[in-house]
Amino acid sequence: SEERSLNFIEEIIEQDLKSGKYSTLVTRFPPEPNGYLHIGHAKAICLNFGLTKKYGGYTNLRFDDTNPVTEKTEYVNSQQEDIKWLGFEWKNELYASDYFEQLFEYAVILIKKGLAYVDDSTADEIAANKGTPTIPGTPGPSRSRSIEENLDLFNRMRQGEFEDGKYILRAKIDLSSSNMLMRDPIIYRIKHAPHHRTGNKWCIYPMYDFAHGQSDSIENITHSICTLEYVAHRELYDWFIEKLEIFPSKQYEFARLNLTYTVMSKRKLMQLVNENIVAGWDDPRMPTISGLRRRGYTPHSIREFCDRIGIAKRENLIELSLLEFCIREELNRTSDRVMAVLEPLKLTITNYDADKSEILLAENNPEKEDKGGVREVPFSNELWIEQEDFMEEPSKKWFRLAPGALVRLKNAYIVKCDEVIKDQDGKVIELKCSYIPESRSGSDTSGLHVKGTIHWVSAKHAKTAEIRIYDRLFTVPSPDSEEGDFKDYLNPDSLKIIKQAFIEPSLMNANEGVGYQFMRKGYFCLDKDSTPEKLVFNQTVTLKEGFTK
Ligand code: ATP
Ligand code: MG
Ligand code: MG
Repeated sequence: SEERSLNFIEEIIEQDLKSGKYSTLVTRFPPEPNGYLHIGHAKAICLNFGLTKKYGGYTNLRFDDTNPVTEKTEYVNSQQEDIKWLGFEWKNELYASDYFEQLFEYAVILIKKGLAYVDDSTADEIAANKGTPTIPGTPGPSRSRSIEENLDLFNRMRQGEFEDGKYILRAKIDLSSSNMLMRDPIIYRIKHAPHHRTGNKWCIYPMYDFAHGQSDSIENITHSICTLEYVAHRELYDWFIEKLEIFPSKQYEFARLNLTYTVMSKRKLMQLVNENIVAGWDDPRMPTISGLRRRGYTPHSIREFCDRIGIAKRENLIELSLLEFCIREELNRTSDRVMAVLEPLKLTITNYDADKSEILLAENNPEKEDKGGVREVPFSNELWIEQEDFMEEPSKKWFRLAPGALVRLKNAYIVKCDEVIKDQDGKVIELKCSYIPESRSGSDTSGLHVKGTIHWVSAKHAKTAEIRIYDRLFTVPSPDSEEGDFKDYLNPDSLKIIKQAFIEPSLMNANEGVGYQFMRKGYFCLDKDSTPEKLVFNQTVTLKEGFTK
């Protein structure tokens, strides 16, 4: 993609490298393995891995797995798969849970320095004593506990002597700080719950703020990039590093990606999965990386999208149509054109020998230099065309089929509509046409000029397929900011299934992960639900910007 100016993080990094503050750039991508990754994570992945690709150094993949209740190995595996698929390689695969012993030691250091204490207040008491931004908090009796007693209690917390919630460990900072997070934040809690990696080894777990910065520091992360919600946490991040006298990682914040017509938190996406509103994390309507992959998005199109939106310092909402633009533009360049009829209408050619058929040649991709080569398309006297390509009482600008009208069949002949057959209810069920033998594409000597070209498939040779057409998952641009539950705004028509479409036989060789342009219908890809007996295609995106019809 084209040259663009430096974003603010690149500016900081160039400064830091120039001044010699760091010699090697080290970043990390730190997902919590509590769900599948989404397009917002893709943004953070492209940013973190992109920086070390550009400036040298390396990026770690660190699973931020300090909350035993929500984390699963299934998520670890899917997250790794998605990062690799996007085209990035991490240097080290690391787990915050691998630092539990070290983090415990850090907590002990703070206690010994008189900078942490064990508190037996209830959650309600802590909240009540925390004050408000303008009123300082009130110290409870635990705040003056002796270092010896704190050490003893903290060790017994670890030994499993107490039930959940009986004690917590708090940093002793400043109960009157204007930053509420500095008012003696909780750094350890008791939680008797097995962890996906450490099993039952631990029954106390560090809080996010006590784990994240120290994990960065342990790994010598130079630039720890996170989203804007963490601006207020930066003071605490720096405080722990300073008091523990460890490697000074620095935190930088950018605006998270928000996308129209979807939601983007793992918690909400999980609700859609658990309540069977979608068919799984990889449902093609989901903004997950696995959903986008199944929908037919390519790694390149997602990276291109992330690059185009850039890095912002203020919250914003990006148009879904920009993401669609990126895949449409790529598929226009790369995908083979094929013919598929989604809403079939029979067309019979009365002057074409019913026992005969012929093979026509079709260009695969006019956008490519060699036109993408040619493929063979069978033609016969019985065809399927789209219902919408016929109009019984055509308007003035109608160039497709109508009684008495001529149209070109793509890659084949010009036909004329001679007769319209209807069923008892007056519905058009068949068109009887005649073809012009001298009008074959590529060797047309008919001298006829017709304005309309339509696609078709030979009924005798066609294969059937199920086609899934998707629309936006929500009816409003920002379901998160509407009143009530975000699920009140689900689009009831986000999935339309065409049970029996007709496709040209070459599509029997379609492969998963390859995009096809169904001429005049959009871009499609084979779905994983396909079997040799029944192919299933997903619509990736429409041919032009706009809603699905
Ligand atoms: P979610 O609520 O969707 O689970 P999260 O921030 O809790 O988001 P993490 O697994 O902790 O998810 O995120 C890993 C990294 O991805 C973090 O550095 C986080 O800042 C970043 N990230 C998450 N969501 C977005 C987003 N929408 N835009 C940009 N970066 C994001
Ligand atoms: Mg998080
Ligand atoms: Mg989260």
